[in-house]
Amino acid sequence: MHYFIYKNNKLFCEDVALETIAKKVGTPTYVYSQATLTRHFKAYEDVLKNHDHLVCFSVKANSNLSVLKLLSKLGAGFDIVSQGELYRVLKAGGNPQKVVFSGVGKTQEEMAYALQKNILCFNVESDQELALLNLVARKLKKKAPVSIRVNPDIDPKTHPYISTGLKENKFGIPIKEALALYQRASEFSAIQFIGIDCHIGSQMLSLEPILESVRELKKVILDLKQKGIHIRHLNIGGGLGIPYSKEVPPSPQEYLKDVLQELKDLKIKLLCEPGRTIVGNAGILLTKVLYTKKTTSKNFIIVDAAMNDLIRPTLYDAHHEIWPVEKRSLASISVDVVGPICESGDFLAKERELPHSHAGDFLAILSAGAYGFSMSSNYNSRPRVAEVLVNGKSFKVCRKRETLNDLIRGENL
Ligand SMILES: *Cc1c(COP(=O)(O)O)cnc(C)c1O
Repeated sequence: MHYFIYKNNKLFCEDVALETIAKKVGTPTYVYSQATLTRHFKAYEDVLKNHDHLVCFSVKANSNLSVLKLLSKLGAGFDIVSQGELYRVLKAGGNPQKVVFSGVGKTQEEMAYALQKNILCFNVESDQELALLNLVARKLKKKAPVSIRVNPDIDPKTHPYISTGLKENKFGIPIKEALALYQRASEFSAIQFIGIDCHIGSQMLSLEPILESVRELKKVILDLKQKGIHIRHLNIGGGLGIPYSKEVPPSPQEYLKDVLQELKDLKIKLLCEPGRTIVGNAGILLTKVLYTKKTTSKNFIIVDAAMNDLIRPTLYDAHHEIWPVEKRSLASISVDVVGPICESGDFLAKERELPHSHAGDFLAILSAGAYGFSMSSNYNSRPRVAEVLVNGKSFKVCRKRETLNDLIRGENL
């Protein structure tokens, strides 16, 4: 559910016409709906309200400061994967005591920074990382709070690039080795084991793989308890899917109810790390038609947004719905929607039935709030686009469009 809706054939974000934003801010521009973000975050909070919990928004999905600030005010914690993301969270007013740090390649510098900021937990992904974290923490005279990220070897049945919980993936530690590592606690004087976590993949459309991994983690927790090792939290990661087109993923409510059911006889704090389900359908990419072009084999719509602005179609073969900002024509044709970049991989949609468009028309690329701007680049020396946050009748540019000067910042001749 989101707040991008037609009123009299014009597409609105909440109570703001997207045409107004396109004309005032220019295109391409990411537009986020505050009401949608709030609604999605509250869906998690509502189900968990009677259970000790923390919802840690996955910052890599969308790291815009205004988005982070909004979620932080709603009570969110954050799942980060770099020093830069922690820096952003703190700038946005996020509480470091609600931050968990994931990732297979944390550097010494990143560990020290996060320790100095007193984050809630490091999600550790290898024995070497644990040993290094122990050294860094000892030097700083700190105790590093740690959760071990377990790799349960479960197929999330999603795109291979976003599958993370199979034994051939680089993520996490196999269960047997994790158990052994917890039992070596005494060797790591500056480490305190406080949790266990997993994250098996993204855009998952069925609950079974997630529930299976929860059951595996539960077994580990019970096993540890028998050995006298008590941990405080279980972190189930993120990865729930959203509808991009006709998929019908389980709702966060259904998902969390089932998870709580699995954990009902276990008194433990529940953490989760949703990204896509919070921001995915809360954002669109607004773009303008530059040209239409007909070749002997195809119809093209050439727009001002490109793969550097939204790489998901070309990277994951992802489907994004495309809606006209003004509905005029009912007749549709099959088109490829492509950008200006010099790559055949630069497409936003292929062989899509769309109403006839003309140069100057605006289009909305839907479900672009997650892994959209945050994965964008300056390829082809294109300035990164503006971001706008809509709240009811008003909107603000929460990130300015980059300038030509931004493109060369830091370079020396
Ligand atoms: C990317 C990621 C998430 C968020 O995944 P979504 O599919 O966006 O919910 C959560 N946890 C970890 C460790 C991640 O890498």
